[in-house]
Amino acid sequence: MRILVGTSSKMNLTSTEAAGYLDTLRPLVADLLDRDLFVLLPFTSIWIARDRLEGANVGWGAQDVHPEDAGAHTGDVSAPMLADLGCAYVEVGHHERRRDYGETDELVMAKVAAVQRWGMTAIVCVGEQERLSFDRVVEIIAGQLAGLRAFDPRRLIVAYEPSWAIGIGASPASPDWVAGVHDAIRSELAGAANGTVVPIIYGGSVSLESAPTLLGQRSVDGLFVGRQALDPRVFAAVAHVEPAASGESTAS
Ligand code: PEP
Repeated sequence: MRILVGTSSKMNLTSTEAAGYLDTLRPLVADLLDRDLFVLLPFTSIWIARDRLEGANVGWGAQDVHPEDAGAHTGDVSAPMLADLGCAYVEVGHHERRRDYGETDELVMAKVAAVQRWGMTAIVCVGEQERLSFDRVVEIIAGQLAGLRAFDPRRLIVAYEPSWAIGIGASPASPDWVAGVHDAIRSELAGAANGTVVPIIYGGSVSLESAPTLLGQRSVDGLFVGRQALDPRVFAAVAHVEPAASGESTAS
């Protein structure tokens, strides 16, 4: 499977700043033809990505979507609007959306349906809210993934992002832990995906230092980078990382 490295700028980068970001990033990653890259910008900057990334080896997308295609939903943005802007990817179910807007697994699945209806790939974020036992985490994630059986596995990416590992002051998940959870996600998806291998990427305090070891873990197909990638030079450096030789996992 091709390595996948992406970033969401969250609520950062005005359109003007996004243009500068992408103009810096594009030449720095132009040599990376053996892996897939993506950048998820605020809705207001997606048109900039369409203009600045045309013909580049970097896909672009959105950080959220409304489950319906159109209608009386003030302030919301629909999947056809995103598809019209050339989005290839749409992130759904991020921890901050679940926390700030009470998004449920049911709503997240309705968003996946909208994304796939319009030919885009859904990046479905899963993960536990707090540090729990391995078995409990696997149980929680199995619940979050249950609805995915209904969808086309070729247009799905699962992002494991434990809430406790995200953001300033968070403690990054250990590579062993990530490997164990990703293995469990892979087994969970195996039955649902009909032989298609759904990429599983890890997000949560990923840095240039931690990236090679994380990428070297079993079942880690790529990385989802947050804060560190707000500097396009750092994102480009992480995108170039090669997986380190992985050790044995003792998920605990
Ligand atoms: C995220 O929230 O998706 C994320 C990866 O954040 P950070 O890397 O900043 O912890």
